[in-house]
Amino acid sequence: MARMTLHQEQAGERDYPGKLAAIGRALAGWDGPIVLISHVDPDGDAFGSTLALKRALAALGKRTTLPIEPPRFLAFLARDGELSDPLTSLPGHCLLAVLDAADEARAVGAPLEGADLTINMDHHGTNDCFGDLALVEPGKAATALIVKDLLDVMGFDWTVDVATPCLTGILTDTGNFRFANTDRAVLEAAGALVDVGVPYAELTDRLQWRHPDYFRMLAEVMGTVAFHLDGRLVTARLTNAMRARIGESDDDSDDFVGLIRYAEGTKVAALLKEREDGVKLSVRSRDGVSAQAICVELGGGGHLAAAGATVHGTLDEAQRALTAATAKELARHDGSG
Ligand code: 5GP
Ligand code: MN
Repeated sequence: MARMTLHQEQAGERDYPGKLAAIGRALAGWDGPIVLISHVDPDGDAFGSTLALKRALAALGKRTTLPIEPPRFLAFLARDGELSDPLTSLPGHCLLAVLDAADEARAVGAPLEGADLTINMDHHGTNDCFGDLALVEPGKAATALIVKDLLDVMGFDWTVDVATPCLTGILTDTGNFRFANTDRAVLEAAGALVDVGVPYAELTDRLQWRHPDYFRMLAEVMGTVAFHLDGRLVTARLTNAMRARIGESDDDSDDFVGLIRYAEGTKVAALLKEREDGVKLSVRSRDGVSAQAICVELGGGGHLAAAGATVHGTLDEAQRALTAATAKELARHDGSG
């Protein structure tokens, strides 16, 4: 069950500047290896925030390792040799920085045991604040914005190399500045990164490029669109059979669910992805309906308007569980209105 209520989520981090400064001091003073990791199925914020921080720390002379495998459409951001395979153990005297990972179970790339110091920086309200130094600020639209603040506090001399992945995290977690988490502070932070010299139009264009298989998969997934609960829930499915026909095209679920979310009259959109361990749900919501509450009910977590969970069972079983959890959340929402 959720450890945090929505009320607590809105309260946010009480000592944001103090914790930023403490993390800045810890990183600046670290003379051992620094390993950066993020959440399973890394998105633009997971990859962008870790890559930006890695590059900044490397520029400060730190020994850094980034064991992350980005989705295909983000791989262009990294240079050859910049990323490594998952680590089976941490090096000695290591600082482990875990970014954008809502809980320990979601962090991948290296074991969480064996670090001298573990830093947890995140913006998920459901983060359980693991680690020695945890900075969880749900008021931030992206973990990349926390990295931006951190590097500013550290007096970092920004480069295009660092600003580009940082801006990528902001762009992807705000849906290119379209989501409700976009405010003046987000736009100003992005503006500052553009000022560093990020080629903005080139970056936003490049971030939309997709492999040709993506479009074949999109056609199949859109063929499964269905409406439930009087049209207030829209779903689509990505099945193992589609993967067998088209190939792995898991990069893009964020796009698929983001697209059906625009179906008129819907409050909740969900993509159901068939996987070995069950069905991965990507849930998006609008108008104060909580995707987070729906996913917490199903054993997952995330943000108010974008959350996820894995349901064990078949696609139809996951659909039933999702519909029931959505009906419950819609009833709560209607009642509270
Ligand atoms: P997505 O649908 O894109 O996988 O995830 C949406 C948001 O919910 C992301 O911020 C992601 O980190 C979070 N999320 C997705 N799946 C899970 C899950 O199973 N557990 C938790 N705690 N968070 C999740
Ligand atoms: Mn994020």
